[in-house]
Amino acid sequence: MSKFFIITLSLLFALSSLAQTTSAPKKRSSIFQFDKDISKIFTKKKKAPKKTKSKKIAQTTPASTPKKEVAVPPKVVIAPLNDNMAVSSMPKFYKKRSQAIFNIGLIYYGDLYTDENFSKVQDLLEKRFELATNGELKLNVIFRAILPFKNQIKDLPDYKFEQIVQKEPVLITEPVTDMDKLQRIWYAENKGMSVVNEVYQEAKTHNLYGKDFSKLDALAVVTGAQFEGLGFASGRVAITENPMEIAYGHKYGRTEIQSDAKVVDELLHELGHSLSLGHATEQCFANGIDYKETQACCALAENKNDVLSYCRQRDMVNENFFYGFEACNMKTIREKIIPAMLKGGEWELKDVAKCE
Ligand SMILES: [Zn+2]
Repeated sequence: MSKFFIITLSLLFALSSLAQTTSAPKKRSSIFQFDKDISKIFTKKKKAPKKTKSKKIAQTTPASTPKKEVAVPPKVVIAPLNDNMAVSSMPKFYKKRSQAIFNIGLIYYGDLYTDENFSKVQDLLEKRFELATNGELKLNVIFRAILPFKNQIKDLPDYKFEQIVQKEPVLITEPVTDMDKLQRIWYAENKGMSVVNEVYQEAKTHNLYGKDFSKLDALAVVTGAQFEGLGFASGRVAITENPMEIAYGHKYGRTEIQSDAKVVDELLHELGHSLSLGHATEQCFANGIDYKETQACCALAENKNDVLSYCRQRDMVNENFFYGFEACNMKTIREKIIPAMLKGGEWELKDVAKCE
């Protein structure tokens, strides 16, 4: 574990209450999952993400009005019309299917990957998703796309960013002149987490990929746009950064290119959220718990190695090693998620046991 990682980790715990009031929503729900994790220092206060209005689900009730007290049949929840990814980034229901297949679109938003490089990410993601679910749920990538940023730094000549750098023996501020880096920082400063809406809109209105949106269960996005977190999932859209600008406003701020294995680890985690799964081992990260207590808790936690657990050692992930879903989450996938897919049932999981 690198020194920086430890420093950042302890800082993050020290700042956890601050983070709670800045970027991360206070209550995590399966609709919105923000993975602040440990790689970023918050450089400035950000507005809390706008809460997504939850649309009411059409419900049918018995036609007759009983005059006496009688047993009321359970409410039947039916899918609203046009409940699909072409209309909304958080459809309430799965589209009915005959096989346990999770259909996604895979997008790189930015300018890091060539299509050939990104196809390797797709290959690894497909392979590892299948292994992560013991082959019980297959991932089907309906399309893979590379989309350029909508907001191009070359069209924003007035934008400047000063970075703190070490010029022995003092720290000075210097303008960022690397235009690719400036582009990524522009997104952090101007869009933040709302980039998820931008890429969803850009992709679904795209002349090649838009037509497939109604077939999607989720959209998985890798982007150079920075939002100061490892990744997050908003409804059915999962997003992670590559490259990452680590603590760009601070001294020793640096650009880190993530390996395919690390990108895939994060995508597996966020796609878990896109299946409405929450975090495993949340008890080890409760408010007020310090770093040592977290370590001790994780060491004992049954689901510490679940890809949805913050206990997992991301530094261990490489071309030979990755994390999948442990027995507890596999039970939910098998007993709740796959049946919902097969019958066209509700996406949001309810009454699911926590994986501790
Ligand atoms: Zn998460």
